[in-house]
Amino acid sequence: MFNLILFGPPGSGKGTQSEKLIEKFGFKHLSTGDLLRKEIADQTPLGMEAKSLMDKGQLVPDEVVIGMISGALEANRDASGFLFDGFPRTVAQAEALDRLLELHKTAIGVLIELQVPEEELITRMLKRSKTSGRSDDADEHVQRNRLEIYRRDTMPVAEHYAASAKSVSVEGVGSIDEIFNGICNVIDAKIAKGN
Ligand code: ADP
Repeated sequence: MFNLILFGPPGSGKGTQSEKLIEKFGFKHLSTGDLLRKEIADQTPLGMEAKSLMDKGQLVPDEVVIGMISGALEANRDASGFLFDGFPRTVAQAEALDRLLELHKTAIGVLIELQVPEEELITRMLKRSKTSGRSDDADEHVQRNRLEIYRRDTMPVAEHYAASAKSVSVEGVGSIDEIFNGICNVIDAKIAKGN
């Protein structure tokens, strides 16, 4: 079993690359953003609470996303590997994930960080807002807030995995295929080393 965290700021291309990675490696895709947007679409109480935070660019509470991931791990016990996208986003989430994976007798193989300059991220989010219908993409103030929270709360997650030499950076600017190749090279090398 090989588990991967696809990491990077909002707008860095995690969703796009995740789709290609699932197809190539057969990972089970776990995106907390997608799971939360499903709760909103279903108008659940959890979704309603999450929406007001997401619209402001704030994080939803750790317990909420950890609970969702815990349930998804249980529901997919036969998966050959998980791709975590948009999770973990805080060190507390990373610590909880490590414990959950240990209970399932597995661990994170690698965290791959997509590196994209900030102005490019803003441009991409504004462009995405025209087709995604995502209210959190349309407002530059909300975007700056998300980037600020990313720097403050989320970047330390890369350091958490760097401590066990599991954190790798990949160029996130270029064609979709070039970036994909960069990610695949990292995964292939890690799998060849037997984790
Ligand atoms: P992006 O990577 O573009 O920010 P996501 O779909 O991953 O988009 O997340 C959208 C929003 O959902 C975040 O801004 C946040 O409010 C909420 N969210 C998603 N994942 C998490 C998480 N792991 N912890 C807390 N909040 C989350």
